[in-house]
Formats: sequence, structure tokens, C-alpha cells
Amino acid sequence: MKKTISEVDPRSLAGKTAVVRVDFNVPLEGREVTDDRRIAESLPTIELLRGAGARVVLLSHLGRPDGQAKEEFSLAPVAARLEELLKAPVAFVRAPRRAEVQSAVRALPAGGVALLENTRFLAGDEDNDRDLAAFWASLGDLFVNDAFGVAHRAHASTSGLAEAMRAKGGQSVAGLLMARELRFLEEALRSPERPFTAILGGSKISSKIGVISALLARVDHLLIGGAMANTFFRAMGLATGTSLVEEDSLAVAEKLLGEGEGRLVLPVDCVVAPELSDGAPSRAVARESVPGDMMIVDIGPKTRAAFAEEIGRSRSIVWNGPMGVFEIEPFAAGTIAIAHAVAAACERGALGVIGGGDSGAAVERAGVADRVTHVSTGGGASIKLLAGGRLPGRDSLDDRA
Ligand code: ADP
Ligand code: MG
Repeated sequence: MKKTISEVDPRSLAGKTAVVRVDFNVPLEGREVTDDRRIAESLPTIELLRGAGARVVLLSHLGRPDGQAKEEFSLAPVAARLEELLKAPVAFVRAPRRAEVQSAVRALPAGGVALLENTRFLAGDEDNDRDLAAFWASLGDLFVNDAFGVAHRAHASTSGLAEAMRAKGGQSVAGLLMARELRFLEEALRSPERPFTAILGGSKISSKIGVISALLARVDHLLIGGAMANTFFRAMGLATGTSLVEEDSLAVAEKLLGEGEGRLVLPVDCVVAPELSDGAPSRAVARESVPGDMMIVDIGPKTRAAFAEEIGRSRSIVWNGPMGVFEIEPFAAGTIAIAHAVAAACERGALGVIGGGDSGAAVERAGVADRVTHVSTGGGASIKLLAGGRLPGRDSLDDRA
């Protein structure tokens, strides 16, 4: 268990400076933040520190500027949105020069907030440069990591900074969002209430083989949808028409079918269409009857009902990956149905955790984000955790006493 900022005595924070890594990697259109969820999710951590009278120095990356200062990846629009959400001034520190960063931090009043420009404008961040991590650590008295979305990366602003802070005698602790993500994804799944059902979908089986095997070992049922199911269909000898299939993964799919006997549940029917477009005529067919000139774009109505029933019987549910090409409205029904089934189960007391960028967007679109237990802010990090992998951003934090 990792130490969390809420376990640090607030009296010890007054007048101190907290260096806080957040994940403000939000979508922008021009200079407008189009989705501020990630900013909003870290507000409790920032408010806790300010309330205790600490100065808050925020670090975040945005996009992939590859170690160069590129205006399109500037955090300036994020600083503006953060000011609105906090209803307090935010000192945005553009200057890359260390002396200027230091004086901007020193000028902060108690409870004041500064946001430094995109950490990835400096090549040292992704290279996990020790000197850069030590500089960031030198700006404060403790390090708070609230950036679950990049916890699977060992960068200077994540694990490097945690180690540098410890080296100079300061604490490195989890922020409230980080702690919440870990609690739901890691701890709750370690000893889940049963039945425990996982739902996996999305486009690629190859990127999620680790998750499939790790979950198969722990769940009572693993429901598979999305294009991922197509590769399993082919491994079962079914015809899949023009559907997206990963030929290279057929052998793995076959092996997983064997391992998952009795627990791995595949769709019994699917929605097929001649092409991926809004106006394409689509219809439901049994999985044995996919026409040669059509592609599978969603799970069918029988599968939706069967999956919803299984979800309804479950006490713990993990979901990653949409059931179909949900970006195209007529092919979103399967994904939306699963979102509603998970929400209904949560309302009856089940634990429902959603991981993955597209799955999170789907739950949001279905309008049930507030009705499920937890929607993770981290795509790659949540998948890595579900697969039993290690997260350097988490591992580098102080252990709870
Ligand atoms: P997440 O981001 O939640 O981890 P993925 O990135 O793995 O999910 O997969 C999401 C993508 O999978 C979506 O863009 C969706 O259109 C695609 N997808 C789902 N089902 C199919 C299908 N049957 N054929 C093609 N693409 C699909
Ligand atoms: Mg995705």
C-alpha cells in the first residue's frame, strides 16, 4: 500500500511547497480545452494542499512534443481553464530557464498555485533524466503524484521525481485521484466479490493478450466483444467475411479458447454491414452466418441480452474496450447496452470499474458515467494494471507506514 496525501498531517504542510505531477493531457481544439475531466479530477488534491496552506507547483505533459517547445502543445489553455475551475489565480510559468522557474515558485503566496509549461518540452522528461528530476524536486518539500494516466511510464516527472524527492529527504506520496484509481483497479480486484465478470472488446487482440490471460485466471466469466471476438471466431473455424481479424494472433486465440473453456464467452450473433459508414444497411446474423462480403461491426441483440444478464448476476465487473464500432451511431447499440447493464448492476450494489480511453468515452456517451463505481482516467495504465503489470509511477511512491 502506498502512502496518500490524505495521510500526511495537514499541519505539516502549512508554508511548505508541494510539487504535484498531474495528468492535464486534455484534448484541445485550437486554444480551447474540449474536455476538462482530467483537470477536474485532480482538483480535490490541489484543494487539499491549498487548504492546508501549502504552495502548489503543478507539472504535466500534453501530447507528444518530443522534447521541443511547440506552441500547439502549450499548457497555456489548461492554465486558463484551471483558473476557472479553481476560482483562484494560477501562475503559468512558460520560461524553461531554471532561475526563472525558481523565482516564480518563490513568489507564490501560501496556498498559491503555479503551473509549469509542458514537461515534455524538455527531452529529459521522457528520458527520465536524473538532473531534471533533481531540479524539479529542488522546487519543493514533498512530491505528490496524481497522474495515474502516465503511471505506466518511468519519466523524470513521475518515478524520477519521486526518487529524487526521497533522495533529498522529502516524502513522495499518492494524490487523491491516484489513490482512488489504485484502490478500485488494484485492491478491489485482488479479492473481488463473486461472481466476478470481465468484459473485453476493442479493436486489437494483440495489444490485450496480457489482459485476457491475466483476467482469465481471476474471473468467473470473461465476455468478449468488439473486433477482438472476430479473431476468436476465426480460430474456431467460423467465416468472418471482411471483418477486422488479426491473422497473427490466431494461434494465441486458439490457446486462450482452450484455457478459457467454460469461462470465456463469445457473442452468438453479430451486426454486419457492407462498410463502416453511417448510412450502410446493417442487419443481425448468427455468428455462423456472416456473409462473405460483410463485416462484423457490433454484437447482436441476442448477445446483448445474454451479456446483460451475466453482468446483472455479477458482484464485481471490469470493462475495457467497446463492443463495436461505437463511433458510428448505428453500430453503437451493443456498447451502449453494456454500459447500461453495468450501470444497473452498480445501482444494485455491484462494483463496476471501466478502464480504457474509448470505453470511458462510450460510458460518457451512454450518459451513465455517474452511475458506475469508477471510470478510470488512464487508458494504458489501467490496462497494464489489469494485466498484472507494474506501474513505475506507483511503485516509486513511499509505502504506507
Ligand atoms: P479502449 O481505448 O477502451 O482500450 P480500444 O482502443 O482497444 O479500446 O478499441 C476501441 C476501438 O475498437 C474503437 O475505435 C472501435 O471502433 C473499435 N472496434 C470495436 N469493435 C470493432 C469491430 N467489430 N470492427 C472494427 N473496429 C472495432
Ligand atoms: Mg483506445
